[in-house]
Amino acid sequence: SHSQSSSSISKVRVIIRVRPFLPQEISGKNGDNPFSCVSVLDSEPKYCDEVTVHLKDQETSRNECFKLDAFFGQEDNNVSKIFEEEVKPLIPGIFKGCNATVFAYGATGSGKTYTMQGSEELPGLMRLAMATILSICKSTESSVKISFYEVYMDRCYDLLELKEKEIAVLDDKDGRIHLRGLAQVEVNSISEFHEVFSCAIQRRKVACTGLNDVSSRSHGVLMISVSTPCCDGSENFVAGKLNLIDLAGNEDNRKTCNEGIRLQESAKINQSLFALSNVIYALNNNKPRIPYRESKLTRILQDSLGGTSRALMVACLNPGEYQESVHTVSLASRSRHI
Ligand code: ADP
Ligand code: MG
Repeated sequence: SHSQSSSSISKVRVIIRVRPFLPQEISGKNGDNPFSCVSVLDSEPKYCDEVTVHLKDQETSRNECFKLDAFFGQEDNNVSKIFEEEVKPLIPGIFKGCNATVFAYGATGSGKTYTMQGSEELPGLMRLAMATILSICKSTESSVKISFYEVYMDRCYDLLELKEKEIAVLDDKDGRIHLRGLAQVEVNSISEFHEVFSCAIQRRKVACTGLNDVSSRSHGVLMISVSTPCCDGSENFVAGKLNLIDLAGNEDNRKTCNEGIRLQESAKINQSLFALSNVIYALNNNKPRIPYRESKLTRILQDSLGGTSRALMVACLNPGEYQESVHTVSLASRSRHI
């Protein structure tokens, strides 16, 4: 029946994005494209809004299938297709007071930062969302403010401040979350945004691991807050926000040979990603209790996940890494639905 189908819609959509092979990955032996461990079963009818992703290990022939909401393969290599189909539809709600959150999730090197931040020439979801929001603001007379912060080892740091500043996370008596002292910068044009954003992304915490010399060890959160005058002629405003999050990489510690502080960081990262997955699972399966308090990240996002909020998780995959992809997709598909 109609009511059944609407209640079975996931509150958090979970989609896959496979990055292309990089030049250094192709030019290895004979210039052929390496074996891709990810494919989508193409007999899927488009209208059912569910795809089956097939992961296969070339050496051992081990393979697994997972169901997800949508699939963007290597050939969809620019981010604009994901933006148009998956992120743009979330934006009108922001002007009506609904919050939304977009996450990029996956192992280090799977394309999360490329997808979310991108560059001025190849914009990621953060820049594309900002441009669309600014263009709508003109007709609605809304104002836009941004904050940019990172969650590192369960602590929050403001990335818009020149000096590193820790932000306290507080709950008020109505259960709303406040990030005390977090800078909010008004943005009137995309060039203003680029200026602020470029400085902020330089400040993100990076460190050397055995795998990748510049790997992101923190969750980077861009919060775009929109305030729109009510159309009833009153002085009131409607407030909505969009959070765009470049999550820290989920890691396999056996592979990275992490020790000491790196190992502690990694444990915190994996713990917060697991907590996030638990929250999404509880939301998508209508559980009575949503475990927001299990990590700093989910506590902060409490008012942007669940309720009238909408969310999208983009699970990013490196097509050359079978085991890692199984890990990412199994957590993503587990979050999705029963
Ligand atoms: P992560 O943030 O998940 O660690 P990155 O976003 O840094 O991964 O991506 C890893 C590498 O892959 C980078 O060199 C990035 O430029 C490249 N890359 C990712 N996605 C694409 C894409 N769609 N097209 C071309 N290169 C990509
Ligand atoms: Mg990154």
